[in-house]
Amino acid sequence: MLVSSAGVLGKCASSFPVAAGAAVYSQVVKTAVVVDRRYEDHDPGPGHPESPERIRTILDVLESYRRSDILVMQPRPATAGEIALNHDPRHIEHVAASAGRPVYSFDADTPTSPRSFVTALLAAGGYLTLLEAIMAADADNGFAFVRPPGHHAEADRAMGFCLFNNVAVGARYLRERYGVGRILVVDWDVHHGNGTQHSFYNDPDVLYVSTHQYPFYPGTGAASEVGSGAGTGRTLNVPLPAGCGDDEYLAAFETIIAPVAAQFEPAFVLVSAGFDAHHRDPLAGMNVTEAGFRAMARVLMRVACDHAQGRLAAVLEGGYDMQALRAAVPAVLDELGGARMGEALGTPCPRSGVLDEARRVHRDYWEL
Ligand SMILES: [Zn+2]
Repeated sequence: MLVSSAGVLGKCASSFPVAAGAAVYSQVVKTAVVVDRRYEDHDPGPGHPESPERIRTILDVLESYRRSDILVMQPRPATAGEIALNHDPRHIEHVAASAGRPVYSFDADTPTSPRSFVTALLAAGGYLTLLEAIMAADADNGFAFVRPPGHHAEADRAMGFCLFNNVAVGARYLRERYGVGRILVVDWDVHHGNGTQHSFYNDPDVLYVSTHQYPFYPGTGAASEVGSGAGTGRTLNVPLPAGCGDDEYLAAFETIIAPVAAQFEPAFVLVSAGFDAHHRDPLAGMNVTEAGFRAMARVLMRVACDHAQGRLAAVLEGGYDMQALRAAVPAVLDELGGARMGEALGTPCPRSGVLDEARRVHRDYWEL
């Protein structure tokens, strides 16, 4: 049953379930996609998992992904000033100094190629392109398929395949340029987003939420890391043991993340969307399927529509198996279309105890 006093269901229905509203949602939700062949220009070298093939695969996926209301956008490069919203100028100079060099290694995992710096500017700028489109109401939501990824990049250094922290630059840009108030950053990449967490650790207006394999690279992300000072409680880590899959992720999203997000009342939802929790991924040990990614996206669409006027912007983080990308990327794009947002998700049966610590810790800050 559709519930709407005006008789016309807006894109953000306030009542669920609205299964019958699927067609209505699909008509009114407009999704933008940012992607560009130039994202292949950053090359960390033969055998590196964060390879240009990832973008080639996504371009191929988008070629065959048919949805009439998808807006495909060309990215613009970020300016040094925009990168500096989140990064130390010395770090920007450090990355800039790698330009033109055959190879330069920021750490053992993070080598660059001659065009890595300009590609990293285009990655952060691609995310800003998407945010600008949403703020201009050209799109309701979207996904920036960029590389290099960003969530491990600290304010003052590159690490873990990441040069600049795209999602953190994006959050700061929303605040600086548009005066957006509370921003929710959900990071479902299988690795903890140490850089993003640290950027906003004392910040009461950015709620950073991460589900990740733990213990695992980069070592941060314990449930006890909750933020500090005015930001205490505004970092929500849901560490998960290896072997978790759709049930554990969906339970985390439905029983912890969605209720906390509702209480936080974000004005914008940002998603650090890695696909390396997929069961096929070669780097990690999780068992998420495309149905799991679909479910996580649906929960976040509901959060965005209930609290943030539908504003949701995802940016690519990890994900190193091409078959996994081929399966999971269209599943998430389907959900951003909103057509299935009102459909019920199955009841998850998580392994007992895996969410207990995160829930217990955050009962000090939220009703859970
Ligand atoms: Zn990752």
